Amino acid sequence: MNNHVSVLEIDAKAVKHNLNFFKQKLQPNTKILVVVKAFGYGSDAVDIAKIVENEVDYFAVAYANEGITLRKAGIKKPILVLHPQLPNIESLIDHRLEPNLYNFKILDAFLALADKKVTMNYPIHISFNTGLNRLGFWHTDIGNILSEIKKSNNVKIASLFSHLAASEDPEEEEFTVNQINNFAYIVKEIYEHLDYDPIVHILNTSGIINYEEAQFDMVRLGIGLYGFGNDDAITAQLQNTHNLKSIISQINLINPGETVGYNRAFVAKEVTKSATIPIGHADGISRKLGNENGFVIINGQKAPIIGNVCMDMLMVDVTKIDCKEGDEVIIFNHQKLIEYMAYKTETIPYEIITAISQRIKRFVKQ
Ligand SMILES: *Cc1c(COP(=O)(O)O)cnc(C)c1O
Repeated sequence: MNNHVSVLEIDAKAVKHNLNFFKQKLQPNTKILVVVKAFGYGSDAVDIAKIVENEVDYFAVAYANEGITLRKAGIKKPILVLHPQLPNIESLIDHRLEPNLYNFKILDAFLALADKKVTMNYPIHISFNTGLNRLGFWHTDIGNILSEIKKSNNVKIASLFSHLAASEDPEEEEFTVNQINNFAYIVKEIYEHLDYDPIVHILNTSGIINYEEAQFDMVRLGIGLYGFGNDDAITAQLQNTHNLKSIISQINLINPGETVGYNRAFVAKEVTKSATIPIGHADGISRKLGNENGFVIINGQKAPIIGNVCMDMLMVDVTKIDCKEGDEVIIFNHQKLIEYMAYKTETIPYEIITAISQRIKRFVKQ
């Protein structure tokens, strides 16, 4: 492919491996929904969806426009929109996207629209707040939800779901089990009032790992598909999906006392060979990695980032590395490198991979 710019290589084999790893944890009848929000966790939602479409039951995105992108690319599987907004509920219907209806404002608006625009059984999803306190109805809303939905023949509840607040944290097990039990109670109450059974789901990646007994009818796989479990032992069994690479644009020899980059932050103590790499903080490489906090890999060796990370570039010390302009630079190609970047920038791998800018070309390695 184009070897003259920074690129993000999406490893299709790794994605499939990770999907199979989680599928093996499921009961034979448990469905699987794959979360491809935020550009497939910073990769490419369409590429990811195409890689796994034949092996999954559902997709989820956060916002309507993300779902529209998938439909325009020819993705046919059902798509749950986790956080639809009032101004674009009409576009959901136009693209056969299935809304999560999380409060009465959006439920009522959608029901009114469905009366005008659709004929029968348009799939909707109802979410319940069981402790995350983000989106979702409360258990005390059940009666009103059912009476509103029963007034309309145009919609049908495709699923009931909730979201765990701390599924990765063993210290919060009691809280999590409570969330699961309260959700099961909500589901039971709704089932008693419907003559059909919506799909039920609560587990995200860490939930799948830690709460096998709570799979219900479906699980929602996000970060796990992209190579991260909730501890080293699981992550070691997953494969890295995001390989961020660049090249050396220019090499400079810096004399003692001379400086590199903005604010003259790096001062050479001895003759230093620096390499300029075309990727910067506008591409998701945090300024916190500057001044030797982070490194890249060139010809198998670590090259520390020197001085401040610029918007479009960064400079690294290659004094001890045999390299030339045009050589490949690896920003990360393993979960451990992503975890190290996250540690150094006081965040989590989710934020590192979703921050990779849209300026960086994506391609799929089959
Ligand atoms: C993002 C998201 C997920 C996926 O979570 P992971 O921890 O990445 O597996 C699942 N469900 C909801 C509601 C989400 O917002």
